[in-house]
Amino acid sequence: MTTAFDPVQIRRQFPTLDQEINGKPLVYLDNAATSQKPRAVLDALKVYYERDNANVHRGIHELSRRSTVAYEEARKKVADWVGAAEAAEIIWTRGTTEAINLVATAWGLDNVGAGDEIVLSVLEHHSNIVPWQLLARRTGARIRYIELDDQGRLILDDLPALLSERTKVVAISHISNALGTVNPVKEIAAAAHEVGALMVVDGAQGAVHTKVDVQDLGADCYAFSGHKMCGPTGIGALWARRDLLEAMSPYQGGGEMIHFVERDESTWAQVPHKFEAGTPNIAGAIGMGAAVDFLADTGMEHIQAHERELMEYALAQVGSVKDIHVYGPESLDERSAVISFTLADAHPHDISTILDTEGVAVRAGHHCAQLVMKHFGISATARASFYLYNTKDDVDRLVEALALVGGIFA
Ligand code: PMP
Repeated sequence: MTTAFDPVQIRRQFPTLDQEINGKPLVYLDNAATSQKPRAVLDALKVYYERDNANVHRGIHELSRRSTVAYEEARKKVADWVGAAEAAEIIWTRGTTEAINLVATAWGLDNVGAGDEIVLSVLEHHSNIVPWQLLARRTGARIRYIELDDQGRLILDDLPALLSERTKVVAISHISNALGTVNPVKEIAAAAHEVGALMVVDGAQGAVHTKVDVQDLGADCYAFSGHKMCGPTGIGALWARRDLLEAMSPYQGGGEMIHFVERDESTWAQVPHKFEAGTPNIAGAIGMGAAVDFLADTGMEHIQAHERELMEYALAQVGSVKDIHVYGPESLDERSAVISFTLADAHPHDISTILDTEGVAVRAGHHCAQLVMKHFGISATARASFYLYNTKDDVDRLVEALALVGGIFA
């Protein structure tokens, strides 16, 4: 059930946020790297380990039954969260990175060959570049890139020239972690399908800030991580259409993923278990299910409205700091809750260090998006990234701390 949205009340549900850093109340603005966890998620993990802990699927005793039920219920919650047709279309992974590696390896090695093309964008996180480079190296395929404009948006006019019958896969992020750019995934998916290519979406930031509907997006695969959306680390998911999963070879071999094992050959378990070799991250899956419950109860429409209002305020405030350069789309319709910036001659690591002395946590570096940095001719930015528990006070604290940086580097 959705209740009235109050970020201050929301914030109280996150124990980590209630502390001082260097004698100042913590302002956590590193959400694009990982989010904090609400008590509901921490409790779900505790209850699982204190009451139900047992391995899933294999046991016939009560604890194993409880673990299996909770684990499979979590799969259903996560499936519903992204609009999957059924729970079996969700494969548990360690996160977005593993989900993309799974597709690039299990699907890629069977479907991509010499002379084929893989279309990515310059905006991608390394997790959505390197797995495809490994595939290209193994198969002789070629990678082509959608370029960026000066606001860090994809230049879609180039898309028709990049796509052809040689294109086997198009892999694009839903939302950029480095700049916050929201990509027109639906449009790109339609173009990819016109040439018969697979559409893979890196949803590491998308599932966090938008209400994802994989059917509406027209994606074939959608990869996302629990830890960025209030869930635990070490758990994430790959959503893919059942027919695609049925046709795909397994990713890893081992227990859980087999039907029968003979001396020289084995047969595979049904989807999704075919892709889940070994004892899974049971607690993580249950925690991710609890995170989805938490976000659904809070209401994605409220979270989105709050983030938009906060971004409008933050862009105006941060943008007015002397000598600041903010990267990324100007329009809030094309931008999510990220502000990537440089300030005068200060190195982003120095910015981050000075902000930390003021209790303000931001990230500095290339954000695993070196092609983005190269596009802008820089090596790093400082990045403030927001989430449902951030407030205008947090923005004010950031701006005050930036004034200190400005004073030192002026
Ligand atoms: N893609 C994007 C856009 C991301 O922001 C991230 C995490 N920073 C990843 C992929 C990788 O996610 P994970 O580390 O959870 O596998």
